[in-house]
Amino acid sequence: MNDLLRQFLEKVQCRNTAEPEFLQAVSEVAESLIPYIEKHPKYKNSKILERIVEPERVIIFRVPWLNDKGEVEVNRGFRVQMNSAIGPYKGGLRFHPSVTLSVLKFLAFEQVFKNSLTGLPMGGGKGGSDFDPKNRSDNEVMKFCQSFMTELYRHVGADIDIPAGDIGVGNREIGYLFGQYKRIKGEFSGVLTGKGYEWGGSLIRPEATGYGLVYFVEEILKTRGDSLVGKKVTISGSGNVAQYAAEKCIAKGAKVLTMSDSGGFIYDPDGIDQERLNYIKHLKDHERGRIREYANKFNCSFFEGERPWKIKCDIALPNATQNELNGDDAIALVENGCFCVAEGANMPCTPEAVAAFNQARIFYAPGKAANAGGVAVSGLEMSQNSLRFSWTRDEVDNKLKEIMKQIHKLCVKYGREEDGHINYEKGANIGGFVKIADSMLAQGVV
Ligand code: GLU
Repeated sequence: MNDLLRQFLEKVQCRNTAEPEFLQAVSEVAESLIPYIEKHPKYKNSKILERIVEPERVIIFRVPWLNDKGEVEVNRGFRVQMNSAIGPYKGGLRFHPSVTLSVLKFLAFEQVFKNSLTGLPMGGGKGGSDFDPKNRSDNEVMKFCQSFMTELYRHVGADIDIPAGDIGVGNREIGYLFGQYKRIKGEFSGVLTGKGYEWGGSLIRPEATGYGLVYFVEEILKTRGDSLVGKKVTISGSGNVAQYAAEKCIAKGAKVLTMSDSGGFIYDPDGIDQERLNYIKHLKDHERGRIREYANKFNCSFFEGERPWKIKCDIALPNATQNELNGDDAIALVENGCFCVAEGANMPCTPEAVAAFNQARIFYAPGKAANAGGVAVSGLEMSQNSLRFSWTRDEVDNKLKEIMKQIHKLCVKYGREEDGHINYEKGANIGGFVKIADSMLAQGVV
């Protein structure tokens, strides 16, 4: 590690003690950016990197609500407004017991670069709560969402900060949050994305992260004249991202071998087909069931408490959550012949895993590039709301494909190394940074 990088990280660490996920995300970005900034003194002199790691604002609030038994419950709500240099804050809300300030700061930080890469005018933010919607009734979820928005409404707006979904926040939660915002403000606006199609949502938004991920993988494969046909793919997760990534892989002729949830993973050696995937969608979205039920129904293996990275594959798509793929997993993947890892989740690969991929010189696409399709279509939802108009499925899907291609081009532009290898991590970090840094320079010390 060079001296400048070490000094920079020490300062960040000092100011953000007990925030391991945030430090992890900052270290990963700083490693690519510091050598680049050294060559571009305008960024160094204006302390752009020091400013980017400091959120513009963090809001922390109490969320009290009444459960079905009439008891008082208290959760903690957050919104991290990280950077607004290129547009209003934009990023999802996560409702999960693992939510802390550190997790939301890492997600907001990643979001700043990801949103910039999309080419759309969106700044970066993230929010959420330690509330767990699992095993809660619809009524309890509604009560929680209403209380959460009763505070959040004063900090967000269609031109200020536009939240969306993330883990634990889907259609149902966005509906309740939107209803409460509309009631308090008395206005129907594009304050949230991921809305239902009937009330201002965009076609393809539910599919966008997963589809976009697969479009990005196709671009990677094209660099070696290859395609998805016949490729063996392992996927973790079984939520929105995993479902639509699997759907697109199947449509493109790949074989999806695994999916998972917090209980373990299923391994279907014949490949999950569309019909079986529809079963998973129903199981997860309507019955809120467990993935192990798939193994019982279709008579295949279930690996309790394990992740799918020991299964032989060509392509691995970690689509569950942060730090779900560690150094040993990465070595197992490489030894089994995997040549491409693309992140549908945010920061699912640990630094040791990323180092192993880089050392083996396989394709590694970080989430801020590979999973940007979700927020990109959120950006298109904002455009449609402002236009008071909606585009067709094909129109949105074509724009999504185009955006993923552009992101890939940027990664190649800034990430191509001397031996021809494309370092997507470096490419995404620098590609996302330049636009934000130039905008911050233009806007002065604010
Ligand atoms: N939570 C998603 C992400 O990590 C989507 C955010 C959005 O649509 O604003 O990018």
